[in-house]
Amino acid sequence: MTSTLITGIAELVTNDPSLGDGSSLGMLHTAALVLDGERVAWAGRAADAPSADLRVDVEGRAVVPGFVDSHTHMVFAGERSAEFAARMAGEPYTGGGIMTTVAATRAASTDELRFGAARRLAEMRSSGTTTVEAKSGYALTVDGERRLLEVSRESTDETTFLGAHVVPAEYAADRDAYLALVCGEMLEACAAHARWIDVFCDKGAFSGEETRRVLAAGVAAGLLPRLHGNQLEHGPGATIAAEFGAASVDHCTHLRAEDVAALRDAGVVATLLPGADFSTRSPYPDARALIDAGVTVALATDCNPGSSYVTSMPLCVALAVREMRMTPAEALWSATAGGARALRRDDVGRLAAGASADFAVLQAPSHVHLAYRPGSRVVASTWKSGGRIAG
Ligand SMILES: [Zn+2]
Repeated sequence: MTSTLITGIAELVTNDPSLGDGSSLGMLHTAALVLDGERVAWAGRAADAPSADLRVDVEGRAVVPGFVDSHTHMVFAGERSAEFAARMAGEPYTGGGIMTTVAATRAASTDELRFGAARRLAEMRSSGTTTVEAKSGYALTVDGERRLLEVSRESTDETTFLGAHVVPAEYAADRDAYLALVCGEMLEACAAHARWIDVFCDKGAFSGEETRRVLAAGVAAGLLPRLHGNQLEHGPGATIAAEFGAASVDHCTHLRAEDVAALRDAGVVATLLPGADFSTRSPYPDARALIDAGVTVALATDCNPGSSYVTSMPLCVALAVREMRMTPAEALWSATAGGARALRRDDVGRLAAGASADFAVLQAPSHVHLAYRPGSRVVASTWKSGGRIAG
């Protein structure tokens, strides 16, 4: 296997507290990385670096772990800019626009779905994302949901069955029949193509009892639970996530102290999606309360055509710092190691021996520039499994 020395790193964020300055970012200055094939073989001070076959000099730039975007709906057809404009003119976000995307997605060819997803994935990669989760939920039919997961699997192993996104119009008069379909034939068709089961547990979507029913069926089919919860109102999402030992509950805009304690005690990650709060002009979650209580916080884009048409993790980092009062270091950790925990992965979100060689080289000497220069092109290049994939 060919080894590569990455040198000239002004600041290396490893997310390994045993390396570097002792902080949770495990930061080193004047550092180097050695890659062996797809893995990191060594990380440390440049002066101590072992020799390698090839040498890449990043000329004084910062290197951070690749972003782990643990919550996206990146496979869909159509777009909803008119809905966005109406919302910015004062109409509230209700989640009802999902049906617009369902209609466009059902009508699209598989190649259209594939090309749209590839375009968004290219944007994500060029802004430093190396691991991405992708959900179904825009077909809401047996064959359609399976098709969305099959297309998602072409890009990622982190695929999530979200048949319980909303109840489609044709089942409006019989929710129970739709839930039976989701927990029966649809789950059966989708389980082989998914790692995770998810439910949109919120006002206008699914109730607590409905959520429990779908999660229990998914778990019985061998899927791991995660949830959309507490976005639009204080609902039972966080409680149910704790009950099921879910990897993550996502949104968390409306939490009470007892929810925060339940997430901490059950080890459920709180995944915050500031792109959605920004794009729906909604309140941001209380990240400080979660962090101060000892809950693991992740940041993700929620990339979807309705409430967060965002592919940039650096934008989410900037919003988390500016609007949610996270420090630049906390936000970077949450967008990398936090996302890895939300996906129960320990091979990504860090740069130490044995980890996947997934990283972003910044057009800057420090990770702080991710939040300090919002909207700027801060990521110079992106590497995944030891190879350059963007920049
Ligand atoms: Zn979502």
